Amino acid sequence: MDSTFIKISDIEIENSNVKTFYFDYELKSKPGQFIMLWIPGTDQKPFSVSFDNGQKFGLTIFKRGPATNKLFKMKIGDRVGINGPYGTNFTINPNLHYIMVAGGYGAAPLKFLTQTINGAAIDFIAGGRTKDNLLFEEELTKIPNLNLHITTDDGSKGYKGFVTDVLVELLAKIDPAQKDKTLVVTCGPELMQKKVLDICNEHNINCEVSIERYMKCGMGICGQCVIDDLGICMCKDGPVVNQKLANQIFEFGKYHRDKSGVIVHSQ
Ligand SMILES: Cc1cc2nc3c(=O)[nH]c(=O)nc-3n(C[C@H](O)[C@H](O)[C@H](O)COP(=O)(O)OP(=O)(O)OC[C@H]3O[C@@H](n4cnc5c(N)ncnc54)[C@H](O)[C@@H]3O)c2cc1C
Repeated sequence: MDSTFIKISDIEIENSNVKTFYFDYELKSKPGQFIMLWIPGTDQKPFSVSFDNGQKFGLTIFKRGPATNKLFKMKIGDRVGINGPYGTNFTINPNLHYIMVAGGYGAAPLKFLTQTINGAAIDFIAGGRTKDNLLFEEELTKIPNLNLHITTDDGSKGYKGFVTDVLVELLAKIDPAQKDKTLVVTCGPELMQKKVLDICNEHNINCEVSIERYMKCGMGICGQCVIDDLGICMCKDGPVVNQKLANQIFEFGKYHRDKSGVIVHSQ
């Protein structure tokens, strides 16, 4: 499939390793979906949409390896290629009470979700190793009906500990009659998400997780992101999956495959 070539219209520095790149383009994406971004001279890589208002969209990117290093050197006006949006999205229902659990750049699609569920009550748990790894604090505090709970592993901001500690506290306060009106959504490191899933199973609370796998085509053709032992593609049947499906994915929280298909155990 041919890429669409578009110019970077704005760049926001979020922290020393994370930038949000904006594009004036009608992407028509939903929170949780991703695009394949072609970065000239390197590769095509998947990134979740962190902002989309119909005329403009944004990608929040962590500087990691060759492709993202190259992107971080690009300027406003430089061109990239895009394909998508692809994949599944988080449930959008303003009548629910959302508990969002975000780790690292996993905050990107969840921040977009907060901007599409006007009026919903939201508890947003944002975690980082230190206060410098936290994202979108200022923007999140402006969302109506949103309670922001910050956690850091080192205690440099908010609660010292893990996002899952706060999740357990919040779930304990939920009126049993309101359980079916509560939805936990999570995105971030896989072991964190697995713990969120286990906690939701124990508390009998609905949840949706976002499963990241090595993706090459983004549209279910190449088979790179097929997962054990269901044989479904995470670029098409994911990245967002509901609790029932997440519970059936044997490898979730245990291992994934690298670009050569070799198993890498979760740690
Ligand atoms: C559905 C989905 C959504 C994502 N959303 C974001 C996002 O919003 N922000 C963000 O910063 N990153 C996101 N990523 C991860 C991002 O695609 C990788 O960090 C990026 O491709 C790294 O490329 P690189 O060349 O800089 O680093 P590399 O050195 O090539 O890779 C660093 C690590 O990134 C992962 N990675 C590399 N290429 C891919 C690929 N094609 N598919 C999946 N993982 C890969 C691997 O785990 C690898 O070890 C997402 C991945 C997926 C699958």
